Amino acid sequence: MTTTQRINVLGAGSASHFVNPSTAHNTSFCRKTRPRLRQHLMRSVLSALCLCFLVCPPAFADTKHASKTLYLTFDDGPSERYTPKILDELRAAHVHATFFVLGYRCDEFPQIVRRMHREGHELGNHGYLHEDVVSLSRSCLQRDVLRTDHSIYRASGVIPTFYRPPGGHIDNQERKLILQMGHPIRMWTVDSFDWKARSTQDIDQALADKIRPQAVILFHDGVSGSRYTAEILPKLLSRWKSAGYAFGTLK
Ligand SMILES: [Zn+2]
Repeated sequence: MTTTQRINVLGAGSASHFVNPSTAHNTSFCRKTRPRLRQHLMRSVLSALCLCFLVCPPAFADTKHASKTLYLTFDDGPSERYTPKILDELRAAHVHATFFVLGYRCDEFPQIVRRMHREGHELGNHGYLHEDVVSLSRSCLQRDVLRTDHSIYRASGVIPTFYRPPGGHIDNQERKLILQMGHPIRMWTVDSFDWKARSTQDIDQALADKIRPQAVILFHDGVSGSRYTAEILPKLLSRWKSAGYAFGTLK
């Protein structure tokens, strides 16, 4: 599906389609009926295989000859509290990253999304409300992805390329659908665990000895632990630069 088609499906850019997620988004009708045990087991096996493939993509498996590039990714934003600080640090270090944003937050803080794009960062789709995609029906998942595309487009003027499922949870069926919609899926290879960090040291320890050429590092700019992400970022960037690493966006 082309960019124009995707926007047209969304209703020619009309904001009137969109409801306030905090008041009107009843997703119970979006839930799938419970699969039978056999189907469930089959889906679990496929899901595990799929996740393994996504987390360990072949392109990243052989790091021996890979260039010394790191890919920083930030999920769950934008947030008014943490994202501007993270953007300040990235700008000061001349580093570009990829932000997997949430649709409802783009609607809330479009100026921050515009800034991400203006400063050379990549925008990715992380769903509208951070719902578990495996629990959504096909039509609801499709609507969720398109709605987020539209929010990002409205804020920045660009349609995101990559999609990252909330919580990293996705199975083969959903993966196929999202690919058909024109979004390759990009997971991460190293988790900073900032989503549960209680100090900058927690992030430091989580990343120790994990950094390799071509690593895709998962951070967050929209959770409470993001305060520590913003705080430790200059130190990490300086350390990785000293070790000879360059930085890139996923595109
Ligand atoms: Zn997330």
